[in-house]
Amino acid sequence: MKSRRTHYEVLSVTSSSSLADIKTSYRELLLATHPDKVRGPAASGAERLNKTYSVDEIKEAYRVLADDNLRKKYDNDLLEDGKKKGIYKFGDGVDEVSLDTFDMNEEDSEEVMHYTRKCPRCQVADGFKLNDDLLEEFAVPCENSDDGRFQVLIQCDSCSLWLKVYFFCAEEEEEA
Ligand SMILES: [Zn+2]
Repeated sequence: MKSRRTHYEVLSVTSSSSLADIKTSYRELLLATHPDKVRGPAASGAERLNKTYSVDEIKEAYRVLADDNLRKKYDNDLLEDGKKKGIYKFGDGVDEVSLDTFDMNEEDSEEVMHYTRKCPRCQVADGFKLNDDLLEEFAVPCENSDDGRFQVLIQCDSCSLWLKVYFFCAEEEEEA
């Protein structure tokens, strides 16, 4: 059984790429695979990918990612796959961002730090929301990391985008 490439990899885009980016990449890839254009100057990356993926793969990837509903369903399938493989391994097609890129707000009443971030895909200002309680509950240590780096997967409230958020745990452990 050969490992399956994600549609994002086939189209040389990421899970946060806009529809416009996906269309551009798709056209470049198709041009690069077209027999008449093989000798022409292929777009960067497209020529390389052309040797890896068939036209059918490229078309299928585009069919799914260009359709809002199909893309959402596909994103969720990817996430389920990732869960089966273990959260640590879930990397394909998921962008990694630092918690430093979030805006921080402390809510006076609760004294819990809240983090919000603009979604790179749908551009909703606070598409991604986190707080210290959620981080404490769901964050896991990064694989192969002995520098205190933690990560958590979160999904945009408005679209289906998943991001892997990492941060360094600043708290000192109280050990005797
Ligand atoms: Zn979004």
